[in-house]
Amino acid sequence: MPIPQNDPKAAYLAQREAIEAAVARVLESGWYILGEEVAGFEREFAAWLGLADAVGVANGTDALVLALRACGVGTGDTVATVSHTAVATVAAIEIVGARPLLLDIDARSCTMDAGALEAALASPPAGPVRAIVPVHLYGHPADLSAIVPLAERHGAALIEDCAQAHGATWEGRRVGGFGDAACFSFYPTKNLGALGDGGMVATRRPEIAERLRMLREYGWRARYVSDIAGMNSRLDELQAAILRVKLTRLDADNARRRAIAAAYDAALAGTGLLAPTRDPRAEHVFHQYVVRAEARDALRDRLKEAGIGTNIHYPVPVHLQPAYAGRVALGPGGLPETERAAREVLSLPMYPQLADAQVAEVAAAIRRLA
Ligand SMILES: *Cc1c(COP(=O)(O)O)cnc(C)c1O
Repeated sequence: MPIPQNDPKAAYLAQREAIEAAVARVLESGWYILGEEVAGFEREFAAWLGLADAVGVANGTDALVLALRACGVGTGDTVATVSHTAVATVAAIEIVGARPLLLDIDARSCTMDAGALEAALASPPAGPVRAIVPVHLYGHPADLSAIVPLAERHGAALIEDCAQAHGATWEGRRVGGFGDAACFSFYPTKNLGALGDGGMVATRRPEIAERLRMLREYGWRARYVSDIAGMNSRLDELQAAILRVKLTRLDADNARRRAIAAAYDAALAGTGLLAPTRDPRAEHVFHQYVVRAEARDALRDRLKEAGIGTNIHYPVPVHLQPAYAGRVALGPGGLPETERAAREVLSLPMYPQLADAQVAEVAAAIRRLA
């Protein structure tokens, strides 16, 4: 049996009865938008993060758009982020009318290079930086110990892109509470995945939460009265009910991902492939287990022949995509580590329902084929 790189159906089957009961409860309730399920999930998710508030939205891209708007970022503002990320991070910045400034990554963690951020803040190549969006890529936090004080010193808003890092910690605290707002995606393959689209903005700041609740529904404070110009971006009751079920298993799922990662680490020893690094201040939640291989494409082909699915996150950095090439501002020194990562990264099968025997099969194939 081939082993897929990801398997969202397995996550559904693992909690089938509870999910189907939750869906039936919503169908019978007759209330499908912004009701008790969304309010309940917002409360439970905020409590799980240890934050004051969380606001459900339609998807992770909208979470970034709404968080930027709630922090006052708009037309002509410069927002610093990375190019080695899901294109959504950069797309959201342009959707609010701001200009992305793309920085290089740290070669080891694959997250924002704090030195590059410091240099860009000192002499911004495209106007003063109004907001910083670090991405906790693959489930590993960016260097928040360096980034948080830089944001404070330069008066920039800090919006964490937590779409791949539900539950990851930095110096013992869950990511999402380090800045002004934090954005989560519940795309089906994320560590916490819906059976459709969903997103959340979490914040410790009540005034940001209040603006988010207005912005996600036409700028309403009271029904039919738009106090500010908003949009429609709501999490629906069905997805919220499903996510409440799945949240109960998220910590156990993340622990299982770490156990699979430890087995892969052991298999990689002596193969010449580079295992993902962990900063000692971080707890990784392995949204992806990403190895570095100089002959990446050949290895990928051999694994495929052996029935092992892999993926590349991401093959083309945002600044080299047709829609962005030559158009977006780049950090000082260019993005050499970003471009190297795009050539070398390979994501192995990683999801909590992988059986021990499957993990062993992947490990053996890696040792044989690397
Ligand atoms: C998935 C993802 C997003 C976007 O989330 P959607 O729910 O697909 O809109 C944003 N940033 C990162 C880093 C992601 O991985």
